[in-house]
Amino acid sequence: MPILPVYGHAKLREQLLRLARDGSLPASLLLQGPAGVGKQRLALWIGQTLLCETDAPPCGKCQHCRFALELTHPDLTWIFPRPRPKDADAAPEEIAADLAEEAAARAARGGVYARPPGTEAIYVATVRMLLRRAAMAPGLGRRKVFVIGDAERMVPQEGSEQAANAFLKLLEEPPRDTFIILTSSEPAALLPTIRSRVAAVRAGPLSATEVRAFVSDPAVQSALEGDREAEALVAAAAGAPGRLFGEAARAGATAAARKLVTAAFGPDQAGVYEAALSQSIAGARGGFSETLDALTIVLAERTRDALRTGDERQARGGVRGIEAVEVAKVRADGNVNPQLLTWRLLRDLQDAPR
Ligand SMILES: [Zn+2]
Repeated sequence: MPILPVYGHAKLREQLLRLARDGSLPASLLLQGPAGVGKQRLALWIGQTLLCETDAPPCGKCQHCRFALELTHPDLTWIFPRPRPKDADAAPEEIAADLAEEAAARAARGGVYARPPGTEAIYVATVRMLLRRAAMAPGLGRRKVFVIGDAERMVPQEGSEQAANAFLKLLEEPPRDTFIILTSSEPAALLPTIRSRVAAVRAGPLSATEVRAFVSDPAVQSALEGDREAEALVAAAAGAPGRLFGEAARAGATAAARKLVTAAFGPDQAGVYEAALSQSIAGARGGFSETLDALTIVLAERTRDALRTGDERQARGGVRGIEAVEVAKVRADGNVNPQLLTWRLLRDLQDAPR
């Protein structure tokens, strides 16, 4: 099944097409803009355009276009955050297979997916896979295209300066047949050494009309949770319809996070036990990393409220709490039981000023 078409970005697509036809599209590109406006979809579209074999790309019909639209083109590699591989030196084939499997799952839903939880990242083994593929000849066509979504979550420097430097060199001087398209909603979080090597292009929010068209797409309809009127969806999307996915999981995580914060800062030790136990029943690792993301947001809110009312002590507690959550996120990356992690985190939160 082909993934859903690109919605919006008409002007930007026109400009990019012109550059691609002239042969002047920068080989290392960064699409930046708010989360959920379809930057990765747009990047995949650029990839399809570069691979299409007709004079009027992307035709949507040639073999290259079809493979690109099914997310199976061997020369279009889509990289995005994934859970940390169990083996830091995982073989490139293993990494590629994991990404292909997730891409296939996304394709089966029309290319619709929720933003990966904050504990997922692009680890060094993935960067090594990318470097290896970039050094190889294209498999099917004349070119290779790499799309790197949520590029600010790349951690190539972690444990391997060599891979980090090789990646920078690749960005600076890609092989003649290679294009690299990064996307990021937090470009300021990209390493300056990466930012200085890419041409940045902004992808802005969609218009209400474009979001309306998006939410009436059958693939979107079947992926949306709940039963809301189109206009309610358009309002909730606020120009970034990708935000509509994974809302239920986020709402559940926020509720769990609020419960943990109330328990940790509350007067009652029994509440802490209860909160830790209910977290362990919710249990699944994916759910836990979403709860940690939500905790950061809830604690930041609490800190802001405290600053507004001049409660310095509570503000300090909030900041200490956010630090403790960051530590828990690192620990959650390892093979640690979420229940144990929750106990430890609650203890750290209790130690913070309240
Ligand atoms: Zn084509």
